Amino acid sequence: NTRVLTGITPSGTPHLGNYAGAMRPSIEASTQPGVDAFYFMADYHALIKCDDPQRIARSRLEIAATWLAAGLDPEHVTFYRQSDIPEIPELCWMLTCVTPKGLMNRAHAYKANVDQNALRGTDPDDGVTMGLFSYPVLMAADILMFNANKVPVGRDQIQHLEMTRDIAQRFNNLYGGGRDLFVLPEVQVDDDVATLPGLDGRKMSKSYDNTIPLFEGGAKALRAAIMRIVTDSRGPGEPKDAEQSHLYMLYRAFASRDEAAQFRRQLEEGMGWGDAKTQLYDYLENILAPMRERYIALTARPDRIEDILQAGADKARKLSRPFMDQLREAVGLRAVA
Ligand code: ATP
Repeated sequence: NTRVLTGITPSGTPHLGNYAGAMRPSIEASTQPGVDAFYFMADYHALIKCDDPQRIARSRLEIAATWLAAGLDPEHVTFYRQSDIPEIPELCWMLTCVTPKGLMNRAHAYKANVDQNALRGTDPDDGVTMGLFSYPVLMAADILMFNANKVPVGRDQIQHLEMTRDIAQRFNNLYGGGRDLFVLPEVQVDDDVATLPGLDGRKMSKSYDNTIPLFEGGAKALRAAIMRIVTDSRGPGEPKDAEQSHLYMLYRAFASRDEAAQFRRQLEEGMGWGDAKTQLYDYLENILAPMRERYIALTARPDRIEDILQAGADKARKLSRPFMDQLREAVGLRAVA
């Protein structure tokens, strides 16, 4: 079996990008024969970016309900919350102790901050917490704890996966005594999965507040958000550059190849942006409406979601607990049985 692992950070309301870029492909993958799926809510990661407890609490419920409404089957997938698995932060510490600081100095998320500070002329480490600096180690712990073979990620995460492999290899060499304690995970980047643009044209992202929410606010909010998508100033009748158009990118992420080609043709033949937005809305609403109904029913019963997450954590800890015993023994914290 191939063990596939992926997580979503509960740092805001789930959006079209999270669904098309992560949830939909993961749910499809989880139904394939021979796939053992581990999907989790990365709530410790949320603390790195978000210091608003209410936002995190709301997001937790929304993300869990979205996974389930989108079709994740918790009987089949090990579906859990990171903070319900105490072995993860414990492993994170063990890995921190073998991770060279120089490796983390090169991590994209940290470097992006340093570069921004250089532009502003401020101290390189302004606004950088230890959480942000060492977050690839926590990510390594998420993955190595369950010995995942495949980790589907966006392109921006490829480097962090390489770091996970580096850290795992180092740990294996130091403590494996000739055998591998950790499986080296492989990165899986799906070229068909596009990065969806947000309302302002940057990557749609919870932390940029530029998202089109999947379910929150209902059909009305979906329509309002679509109407706010930035377009160029070409009027009705003028041919549009579909490839450059955010509307087309969004449409293509949901439609079949033929439908996307038709939408593209219409744009190139001069369909007005207003009509294009209405078409995009109608298309999305058709797909999302039945899922939204399930979502509303799920969010009305947070206790049921909690039960599902607890059952998932129980399943996950059946693996993480004995594996942690083995790791403690390997590093010398416990007697060899
Ligand atoms: P944050 O701003 O908190 O990082 P995010 O909205 O960018 O949040 P994450 O929780 O970091 O999303 O990522 C969850 C998953 O959603 C990842 O697999 C990521 O690749 C995917 N994802 C996020 N944004 C997009 C997007 N704009 N297009 C496609 N996939 C996306």
